[in-house]
Amino acid sequence: MAAVTFDHAEHRYPGATQPAVADLDLEIEDGEFMVLVGPSGCGKSTSLRMLAGLEEVTAGSIRIGERDVSGVPPKDRDIAMVFQNYALYPHLSVADNMAFALRIAGVPKAERLARVRDAAALLDLEALLERKPKALSGGQRQRVAMGRAIVRQPQVFCMDEPLSNLDAKLRVSTRTQISSLQQRLGVTTVYVTHDQVEAMTMGDRVAVLHDGVLQQVDAPLALYDRPANLFVAGFIGSPAMNLLEATLDGEGTATVAGYRLPLPRDVAARADGSVTLGIRPESFHVVAEAGPTSTGLPVQVAVVEELGADTYLYGTLEDVLADGTSVQDAVRHQIVARLDGRQRLVRGERVLLAADPERVHVFDTASGARLSA
Ligand code: ADP
Repeated sequence: MAAVTFDHAEHRYPGATQPAVADLDLEIEDGEFMVLVGPSGCGKSTSLRMLAGLEEVTAGSIRIGERDVSGVPPKDRDIAMVFQNYALYPHLSVADNMAFALRIAGVPKAERLARVRDAAALLDLEALLERKPKALSGGQRQRVAMGRAIVRQPQVFCMDEPLSNLDAKLRVSTRTQISSLQQRLGVTTVYVTHDQVEAMTMGDRVAVLHDGVLQQVDAPLALYDRPANLFVAGFIGSPAMNLLEATLDGEGTATVAGYRLPLPRDVAARADGSVTLGIRPESFHVVAEAGPTSTGLPVQVAVVEELGADTYLYGTLEDVLADGTSVQDAVRHQIVARLDGRQRLVRGERVLLAADPERVHVFDTASGARLSA
């Protein structure tokens, strides 16, 4: 087992004007489960494939432990890859599929059998060892693909969307299995997904990529509580954080579409001008109608989802529509709030939503950078 270091690593596809992965600096600790997440095309797979040796490192380097593997052929890197399409050999049994790489590597038969047996026990595949892949369910095939990686006892697992072929329910149970298996084996793992929920639930740490550039790397809750910029703020969390353009008055309040909201103390005095406020759906609460001192955003309720424990309110900042503003403005002023399940709301009514100032995130609108602590 070993740490993995991306050191200013870059990959540029031939003829491309922009690198697919630019100047990636990322240290993955020995035994860590690191998730690379971001929207399609952000460079996740390319990063993983560089580590696996399937794409060239066109600048910078990648180390596994102390060893620079940038120019090392894939088979000599001591990694095992689990792909999205499991690429099992259809004519080989489960046991032979799992043992295949070991046979190529010249591992003696007794040792091969022992390793396959151990992996099959870990993955609950013992009863299926003689079957062919076509006689397996999607979830079972996925476990065989995992087994094939495990028997190699590599220093690093590379997993590229390994759950994307499973149905939603199986995906949830399999992600727990992979996490606990990885913990038990303690093998450094780099896992690629576009699904932020998968990233948050599986990763020890999560690296968020956008347009080939690493945006932030941190523990899941740290990303959630303190997104470094507008991209991470909007990407992590479901439903997404409300992002509202506002102007600061330099005296502790922000104005959003004509309404005042108090701000966290550390930004209140400091900034004026244009900012974007980030408010998580669960950070809103309903307050009594505006008096002279109360502040909040009047929201017209469009949809109410009562889920029992929680009620989700989807609405629009009032008056924005009435002003005859553009559709884009109306969309920008959509609000989602997660409220107590016993909160009674009626479609079409107007409620006043407020947020504790310390739970309001403040970003520079132009650069996207976080301004609040
Ligand atoms: P992700 O895994 O995050 O969806 P990729 O790493 O596959 O993203 O792709 C990153 C960028 O590189 C995208 O802009 C994509 O279009 C481009 N790209 C991927 N593969 C190739 C290729 N073989 N040739 C040229 N460009 C590619």
